[in-house]
Amino acid sequence: MIALRGEVWFPNSKLNYPKKMVHNKKELINGETSLIGVLGYPIQHSLSPVIHNAALTALNLNWCYLAIPCEKENLELVLKSLRKIDCKGLNITIPYKETVLSYCQNVDNIANSIGAVNTLIPAQNAQWNGTNTDIQGFLAPLKKFSNLKGKNALIMGTGGSAKAVIQGLSSLNLSHITIISRRKNSLEKFIELVKVTKSKSTTCIGLIEGDSLIKEYIKNSHLIINTTPIGMLNKSENQKIQAIPLSEEYWENLSPNSILYDLIYNPKPTEWLKLGSKYDCHQIDGLDMLIEQGAASLRLWSNIENIPINIMKKAAENALKK
Ligand code: NAP
Repeated sequence: MIALRGEVWFPNSKLNYPKKMVHNKKELINGETSLIGVLGYPIQHSLSPVIHNAALTALNLNWCYLAIPCEKENLELVLKSLRKIDCKGLNITIPYKETVLSYCQNVDNIANSIGAVNTLIPAQNAQWNGTNTDIQGFLAPLKKFSNLKGKNALIMGTGGSAKAVIQGLSSLNLSHITIISRRKNSLEKFIELVKVTKSKSTTCIGLIEGDSLIKEYIKNSHLIINTTPIGMLNKSENQKIQAIPLSEEYWENLSPNSILYDLIYNPKPTEWLKLGSKYDCHQIDGLDMLIEQGAASLRLWSNIENIPINIMKKAAENALKK
């Protein structure tokens, strides 16, 4: 018998996960509760515990998802220890998505291709296997738009999330990809990655912020993605910060119906997405990507196909309102 969140369940061999029997609803954590969580530093502002625990409750799964702060010098020890205590799965976030590769027994092709792991799955001999669900998460909200094949995309930023984005875009058979970076060094390294990732028929160009060609590429792009942190909520009111990537004048030539995709989810929508609505652009904020990558991780850990995405999203939206 397996005790689940607020209920007592019996294993059902066909589904490979437990079947419920009503129990004391108040008993959320008990002696049989298993641990899953997200490892990073700092980690206290993560939305992942909110979205995952909402899903666990809805699934009546007796697991608890915690944000686990871990300093760099303790990473290996913490990973080994969590595996020893039968932690059922981990998300990995900033600053360890790249470092954690060296602590995995196996890393799958997707995670290897971008050199970053965001999900650890228990492996044999007290080891972890690594994968990356950010790509799946990024692509999910684009599914509702008609075929992007042969269209042009533009990406701002060349950091960690941009790597997942470029890998995702490679499956869309785009005609052209423009990459904008503030630094020549980062741009050159990123273009090398794009060259090996993109499909053969896709052309690409890298531009440094301030380049006079940028406005023209914006005008001709069907899909524009912000992977920089510009526009993120800043809690220190005294600090004057940039709210819109590049600057407002760059967006005057936005084509109606183009898709603006901002990876930021707080604020929701960002100033950039609000600006896009003035030009009749479609808008996607970062919340769906966050939920979908989390749901994909939970699917891998639990073997449960139907993850309650809507419940996870509602929980995140409520938390963001606070
Ligand atoms: P990152 O690895 O630090 O990369 C940030 C990129 O933005 C770098 O290319 C950086 O340029 C550039 N950048 C930073 N500040 C800039 C500025 N003021 N002007 C121009 N470029 C600037 O960060 P990340 O992990 O990719 O995350 C980026 C954003 O995506 C964050 O807001 C994060 O919350 C969001 N995100 C959302 C999800 C989701 O699920 N929705 C997932 C991942 C990330 P340099 O290389 O020159 O430093």
